[in-house]
Amino acid sequence: MKSATFKKLTDGLTWQEERMPVLFVGHGSPMNGIEDNEFSRTWNAMANKIPVPKAVLVISAHWFTRGTRITAMDFPPTIHDFRGFPAALSDVEYPAPGDPLLASEAASLVKSAGVIQDHDWGLDHGAWTIVRHMYPNADIPVLQMSIDYTKPAEYHYRLAAELAGLRKKGVLILGSGNMVHNLRLMSWEMINGGGYDWSLTMNSKFKDLIANNDHTALINYEKLGPEAAMAIPTPEHYLPLLYTLGLQEKKDAVSFFNDKAVGGSLTMTSVKLSS
Ligand code: ZN
Repeated sequence: MKSATFKKLTDGLTWQEERMPVLFVGHGSPMNGIEDNEFSRTWNAMANKIPVPKAVLVISAHWFTRGTRITAMDFPPTIHDFRGFPAALSDVEYPAPGDPLLASEAASLVKSAGVIQDHDWGLDHGAWTIVRHMYPNADIPVLQMSIDYTKPAEYHYRLAAELAGLRKKGVLILGSGNMVHNLRLMSWEMINGGGYDWSLTMNSKFKDLIANNDHTALINYEKLGPEAAMAIPTPEHYLPLLYTLGLQEKKDAVSFFNDKAVGGSLTMTSVKLSS
């Protein structure tokens, strides 16, 4: 049985010496899910560089709910949560298994909130457009945890820290969003690369704060001034970054990849934490 075979992958996850890295990945356009481009190639290369995870847990900008939920089904469906894109994108299926046992273990690690085990969601494009390039065989369980839109930024940062034990159990935790994300101000002239001054300023500012471990400033992003307000007109694409940073431990080195602005008002800049 397929599900039984997959369950064995994470049944009784054991502690390991090596702590898995944590990623924040700028996902950008859903088309990155089917394009062979500089971003998708880097995602694939990243997967080949880090240890093979026993499971992937994605916090996606595109699952914004009341309360925190975690996917707990055996086989999460591929969700095509976008409009106006070619059929080739809507036809994509990413048949990675879920892992109900891991969902229950992750939920029990979070003491500050009741995490709801979810059987209705699946893998939205914030998850599968990236993970299918990283693990094209779809043989590693993938779960998603939602973002509770009723809670302040600090709640998300602290909740993430409660999941830290999963890193030592071979789980790759991946926040998927975009640090600078203002679709209303997108420029088609810069679609293949380029950013407005305020976007580039914020990209540098975010990187400096991340590199200097100034998480307090990043949690209080609303105090970073008018350029930050343009970069983060709504919080859903930014908050996954706080999940990644909430998992940072003292030994972790910080590095950046896909550090690029596209479309004027969006950055693909991504973060890797690894010890
Ligand atoms: Zn998005």
